[in-house]
Amino acid sequence: MGFATIAVHAGNEVDPTTGAVSVPIYQTSTYAQDGLGKNKGFEYARTQNPTRSALERNIAALEGGKFGYAFASGMAAIDATLRLVKSGDHVVVSDNTYGGTYRLFAQVLANYGIEFDFVDTTDLTAVEAAIKQNTKMVFVETPTNPVMLVTDLKAVADLSHAAGAKVVCDNTFMSPYLQRPLEFGVDIVVHSTTKYLNGHSDGVGGVVVLNDETDANWIQFIQNSAGAILSPFDSWLVLRGTKTLSLRMEQHDRSGRAVAAFLEEHPKVQKIYYPGSLSHKQHDLAKRQQKGFGGMVSFDVGSLENARTVLESVKLCTLAESLGGVETLISHPATMTHASVLSETRNRLGITDGLVRISVGIEDTDDIIADLDQALARIGV
Ligand code: PLP
Repeated sequence: MGFATIAVHAGNEVDPTTGAVSVPIYQTSTYAQDGLGKNKGFEYARTQNPTRSALERNIAALEGGKFGYAFASGMAAIDATLRLVKSGDHVVVSDNTYGGTYRLFAQVLANYGIEFDFVDTTDLTAVEAAIKQNTKMVFVETPTNPVMLVTDLKAVADLSHAAGAKVVCDNTFMSPYLQRPLEFGVDIVVHSTTKYLNGHSDGVGGVVVLNDETDANWIQFIQNSAGAILSPFDSWLVLRGTKTLSLRMEQHDRSGRAVAAFLEEHPKVQKIYYPGSLSHKQHDLAKRQQKGFGGMVSFDVGSLENARTVLESVKLCTLAESLGGVETLISHPATMTHASVLSETRNRLGITDGLVRISVGIEDTDDIIADLDQALARIGV
């Protein structure tokens, strides 16, 4: 079956009691039991909820994985995944990963004896050099947020496995429509469903998808033990979102390419970051491992003042954190999503004060470009 068919049908079985074609929102905290030790497979809603299970089956199928677990946020999903390593273990992480991931690893989990090294995972020699005897996990984000660096998933999976480490990929920026990391040998995929999977900027959530049954059992155990579950209503919203994922991603990708091409030619733009651009260092790799380039485009206008002009002059684009929704969002990574990253690290990664990030929505492409054009025209005025 094709991706769009799976998106509409996986997990979305017709409700056996009523025939409802949309999976009902099972808004309940508990389930009546027929007798002691006799139940219908459901005891308590932190442990099992039919709406959440439907979503978990849906996303697992979209990623081509066997098991899926839904969490209250992308960060909760990442936190649960990190419970696969223990005190004394070492984790190698993409150095310009999402700021919240950096914060969780460097400022929270590091306090519990887990060792982290943040390296440029686009450089395979650097990944290999960072792997130590106690390395148990390599955590990559590709393309990275916000400078859109692409990591070679197959190469990283091969060299990590040779060293006995599991590989996790944060696939939030691409969604399974544009990239399926498990096919390249990655062990675990995580998502902030807040972004493209839900797609409508109206819910926060996260998922973990994987194939290994032992690891899956542990993630499920953590989901129930720590309890950062996705609510029935939010599960339903994401389930509704994924039904149109293929259509939305096609449009995000189409407009993303057009916006990047427009910005690349614009005299007020000093640099663009978009894997679909021929000038992008890893364009060929992106072409090989992704089905498209998506709707995330970053560009540098040279200074905080210029960035402020653009961000405060747009009319259609909304100045806001987050990404992956139907509406175009524009943001300033240095002071918003990446404010928790040290400033020297930010500068080394290219997250300068002049960097602006756009999550290109599904409005008419010409309208998005016209809005950026009028905002850029105000620089230096
Ligand atoms: N991963 C990436 C790539 C993100 O961009 C984000 C949020 O922006 C997260 C994870 C965290 O997700 P959430 O905000 O749903 O906790």
